[in-house]
Amino acid sequence: MKQKKILILGSTGSIGVNALNVIRELPEYFCAEALTVNSNIDELEKQINEFNPSAVVVRNEAKSAELKKRINNKCEVLSGDEGLIEITRRGNYDILLSSLVGFAGLAPTIEGIKQNKRIALANKETLVVAGELIIDLCKKYNAELIPVDSEHSAIFQCLVGEKSNEINKLILTASGGPFFNKMNLTDVSVSEALNHPNWKMGKKVTIDSATMMNKGLEVIEAHWLFNLPKENIEVVIHPQSIIHSMVEFIDGSIKAQLSLPDMKLPIQYAFSYPDRIKTGFVKTNFPNLGQLTFFEPDREKFKCLNLAYEVMEQEGTAPCILNAANELAVDKFLKGKIGFTQIPDIINEALNKIENHRTPDIETIFECDRQTREFVNSVYN
Ligand code: MG
Repeated sequence: MKQKKILILGSTGSIGVNALNVIRELPEYFCAEALTVNSNIDELEKQINEFNPSAVVVRNEAKSAELKKRINNKCEVLSGDEGLIEITRRGNYDILLSSLVGFAGLAPTIEGIKQNKRIALANKETLVVAGELIIDLCKKYNAELIPVDSEHSAIFQCLVGEKSNEINKLILTASGGPFFNKMNLTDVSVSEALNHPNWKMGKKVTIDSATMMNKGLEVIEAHWLFNLPKENIEVVIHPQSIIHSMVEFIDGSIKAQLSLPDMKLPIQYAFSYPDRIKTGFVKTNFPNLGQLTFFEPDREKFKCLNLAYEVMEQEGTAPCILNAANELAVDKFLKGKIGFTQIPDIINEALNKIENHRTPDIETIFECDRQTREFVNSVYN
């Protein structure tokens, strides 16, 4: 395999750091061509010294200027959202790792698609808000979309060599998050919600896991990635997070992908596909695991999961409204401004208030995101 150049969007986030761990272990296969961060220049400076990227982007202008002084021409430093677009537009990379958090990932991912690159997609919100447009763009520009989300990577791996018309259903597994066994969620604190039992992730996705909105977003993501209706996508709670998801075929046979929960594996697979590369990842020991268990999700307790299925029914910009309201609600919960159970309430309110556009173009999606944020901020501040 020829060495592949990777552009990492969000290199100091949880996925970005894991991607650099993969690159560090496999320098003959991969290199970090360019890195982007919001404002964490201390960490970025260490990454520049270790990985020697040709360029970096710091979205925060002041921090970008400060980094420029510090690193003394070691690499090119761009800034702002324009810098983010500029770096993806240059196209001097093989793989775009789209690992920004939330709606912010959409615009640069589109640029990578237009450059006809492999998109290693960790930013599920891109497909949630603009799934149809993204899939059409990938076809038009002949860009490859390879999932990094562990569930979708699992399904993608199960489907290698299979025919799409022979799939009966997808079964997405969910850990259940920190509140799987908790009956009443009204008084849960931020630190309780951030305490995920199996995965170490960024704050946004950790809270999404606690509300199970994460699984809802993943059902929408799976719908677009694998072109199946919501009726053929199921969610099952699997607290051990060993089976990362499954595919049932028309003859009743089921394939599953298993491994210990470690994001390095799906990241590496998205980079190396269709090949696999030998690694020292900890292997699964079945006698040590003892048992794998499964449960039905509690849809009364986890209202966000139902909301996600509902917006799939409504189509148009409804998933975009859900996503924007959820991003803001999670942010407000983290800042202590609202309670945990208000998250689905806020999303519901936004869905009732903001108009759904049936066949949106990309400008409509950006406008819908803006309107929803304006509405939520005006009601909850
Ligand atoms: Mg996931």
